Amino acid sequence: MNADLVLENVTKRFGAMTAVDDLSVTVPQGSFFALLGASGCGKTTTLRMVAGLEELTDGTIRLGDKDITGLRAYRRPVNTVFQSYALFPHLNIEDNIAFGLRQRGVKDVAKKVAEMLDLVQLPGFAKRKPAQLSGGQQQRIALARALVNEPQVLLLDEPLGALDLKLRRQMQIELKRIQTEVGITFLHVTHDQEEAMWMADTVAVMNNGRIEQLGAPTDIYEYPSSPFVSNFLGQSNLFAAEVSGKDGDDVLLTAHGERFAAPVGRARSTDGRVWLGVRPEKVRLAVPGEEAPASHNQVRGVLTDTCYAGVSTEYLLRTPWGQEMSVFSANAAAGEPLSPGTEVVAHWYPPHSFVLDRPAGSGDD
Ligand code: ATP
Repeated sequence: MNADLVLENVTKRFGAMTAVDDLSVTVPQGSFFALLGASGCGKTTTLRMVAGLEELTDGTIRLGDKDITGLRAYRRPVNTVFQSYALFPHLNIEDNIAFGLRQRGVKDVAKKVAEMLDLVQLPGFAKRKPAQLSGGQQQRIALARALVNEPQVLLLDEPLGALDLKLRRQMQIELKRIQTEVGITFLHVTHDQEEAMWMADTVAVMNNGRIEQLGAPTDIYEYPSSPFVSNFLGQSNLFAAEVSGKDGDDVLLTAHGERFAAPVGRARSTDGRVWLGVRPEKVRLAVPGEEAPASHNQVRGVLTDTCYAGVSTEYLLRTPWGQEMSVFSANAAAGEPLSPGTEVVAHWYPPHSFVLDRPAGSGDD
C-alpha cells in the first residue's frame, strides 16, 4: 500500500505573515527526507502541520490515499521527536516508552519495549529514570518512545540540536541506521546543512516558506539551482558573467574580461547574464613557476589569508577585479601552507563549474 506523504499547495499564514507559501512536495514512503533551511523559513511550521499541531490556512495533506488535513493530531499515524526530549521525569525508561501503548491497550508491551531498547542500543536501561541518562541517551529513548507506536511517518524537529558536536555526529549515524532498520519515513527538520546531507536521501532546501530546491544531497550540492542554495550549502565562488558563445558541449563565458568554459549540462542558463560558480574544494592553486593546465578555467590572484586546519588549508585570494575567492586544499602531502602575499593562479577543471541565472538587479551590475 502506498503511504507517500503528499503536501499539496499548503499555505500557513499567521495574521499578515506567510510562514509557508503554497508548498507542494511528496515525501516518498520509506525515505529519509530533510527539510533544510535557515531560522524562520517555515520548516517547523510545515512539520507541525503534518503532525496536526497547526491548522492549514490552505491546501491538503495526504498520507497514501487518505486525506489527513482535518484529522486530529492523535488520530494521525505520525509521531514527533522534538529537540527537547520531553520524557516524563517521574517515570522510568520502560514506562516512558510504554506510555502510549498502555493508553491504547496494546498487548505485549514488555516485549515491544525490550525490542525498542535493543533498537536504540540501550538494553539495560529499562529501570532507570530519565535524569540518570545523558542527553544523547535521553534522545534515543525519545526516539524509542516515538517508534514503538509504529507510526507511518516519524517527524524529527531538530532532534539533535541540544547535543554537542561529537555526540551529534554519533547520533546522526545512529539515526540513519535506525531509519534503515525500521524502514519508516523520516521527515527531519534541520538548519544544519551537513546534518541534512549526511543523513537524508532527499533534501528540500527551504527559503521564505517555499522549497527552493529538492534533490539528493549530491545533486543539490553539485548542481545548486540558485545563488541562495549554492551559498546555503557550504561555500561557493560566484562570478558575474555573460555567456559569449558555445563550443561543442561547453558554454563559453566572459567574466571580468577573462574567458571561462562550463559544460552545457551544468548550466541553468545558456545565454545572457549568468553566475559562474565553483566550489572552493574544486579549485587548485598554481604557484609561481608552476603551470596551470591550459584547458582549466583560471583566475589570477594574490593570497590574502591562509587558515591552516590540519586536514585542510583554507585560502582566500583577491582577484584582479577585487573579489574574494575561497580555495580549500586538502593537506594530503606534508608541507607548509602558502603564505599570504603569494601570487597564484587558481584553476579548475571546467566540468566542476556550474552556471546559474543572473536576473537583472541580482548583483554585480
Ligand atoms: P526555526 O529553525 O527558528 O524554528 P523555522 O524555519 O522552523 O525556524 P518556523 O518556526 O516555521 O520557522 O516559523 C516561520 C515563520 O512563522 C517565522 O517568521 C515565525 O516567526 C512565524 N511563526 C511561527 N509560528 C508562529 C505563531 N504561532 N504565530 C505567529 N508567527 C509564527
